[in-house]
Amino acid sequence: MKMNQFVIIGLGRFGASIGQELIELGYEVLGVDRDEEKVQEMSRILTHTVVADATDEDTLRSIGARNFDCGVVAIGDDVQASILAAILLKELGVKKVVAKAVSELHGRVLERMDVDRVIYPERDMGIRVAHQLVSPNLLDYIELSDKYTIAELGVPACLAGKSIEETNPRGRYGCSIVALNKPKGMIVAPTATDTLAEGDVMVVIGTNEQIEAFQDAIGQ
Ligand code: ATP
Repeated sequence: MKMNQFVIIGLGRFGASIGQELIELGYEVLGVDRDEEKVQEMSRILTHTVVADATDEDTLRSIGARNFDCGVVAIGDDVQASILAAILLKELGVKKVVAKAVSELHGRVLERMDVDRVIYPERDMGIRVAHQLVSPNLLDYIELSDKYTIAELGVPACLAGKSIEETNPRGRYGCSIVALNKPKGMIVAPTATDTLAEGDVMVVIGTNEQIEAFQDAIGQ
């Protein structure tokens, strides 16, 4: 199902950033915050904004929250308000509810309430940054499961000029280069003769161990 209309509850740094990006991507966004100043700030950017307390059922009903495809609860410090707002959005029939959690316990409660996706921005960003700090070539990664990862690795000087066949990560470490991002564009499913240049980005898929072994071998 394609999401078109979004309601964001809480226009702090997290909610405001999601709202702004959705607008840039061409979607309609209603922003709700009980703080008039926050609403004022975002009123120039978002499609609609409302000053309201999202823990009040009648208020959420009157702003037509149920008509939205997706609701984002971006309240942090006030855990109780976050939980109430998430319950109300679910009960009103918002198709997909996403909520930010500030602690494991907060997250567990949201998950128990069948919130469709719980996000831990600080924890997850901290983990990402730690991975990037210890692996200088690692630009970004997606965990596919406990075992498998897709990682973006910068091509270091030691691989410059080598073909994928010569580099041979599949033969040596078991992980595969599924795409190669070059300044001219992305090569999807590169062939054995495609050549790496310093600064290109390799998109590599494999188990965590295989990718780590490849990273260790090319680490500066
Ligand atoms: P961020 O890190 O995104 O800046 P935060 O984690 O510090 O935010 P808060 O500042 O607690 O989270 O909340 C974000 C926004 O949610 C604030 O602008 C606050 O006014 C708003 N907010 C909190 N409770 C409610 C509520 N019951 N109804 C509407 N808005 C609320």
